[in-house]
Amino acid sequence: MKAELSNGQNYKVDSFNLDHTKVKAPYVRQAAEKEGPKGDIVTKFDVRFTQPNVEFLPQAGLHTLEHLIAEYIRDEIEGVIDFSPMGCRTGFYLTVFGKQEEKDIADKMVNVLTKVAAWPDDKPIPGAAPKECGNYREHDLKTAKEWAAKWIKGIAEKGYKCC
Ligand SMILES: [Zn+2]
Repeated sequence: MKAELSNGQNYKVDSFNLDHTKVKAPYVRQAAEKEGPKGDIVTKFDVRFTQPNVEFLPQAGLHTLEHLIAEYIRDEIEGVIDFSPMGCRTGFYLTVFGKQEEKDIADKMVNVLTKVAAWPDDKPIPGAAPKECGNYREHDLKTAKEWAAKWIKGIAEKGYKCC
């Protein structure tokens, strides 16, 4: 899975070493595990929603997914540091304290996204007021809920692995 530079070196950025043409979305993949100077372990996961270079999440739906997942993810997954969208809009990065397994993260993300998919249509999106969000007008609950359901269905059909 490692893509090498022409000089035989790997890229310094972990995700550039992933061959995006070989993965099968949706999936959960451990992207990195780092140890800090005081021995703390931090693990980063690639939580992919769409097939890279085939499909990508519409911006407003991605934004709402980010808000709704933020509402629930800390109830399910211990030691969450961050959950942020990828610039390519094909998924999110999840960063957590400690060593955690892809399968556990996938199982817990199913729980998170089940709640997201069940968000009532008439309930306000959390953190989506002008005081709380940097682009509060750009939200799309319907698309966010659709993609939450698609992720769950995809994982149930093919498993959580990327490749
Ligand atoms: Zn926002």
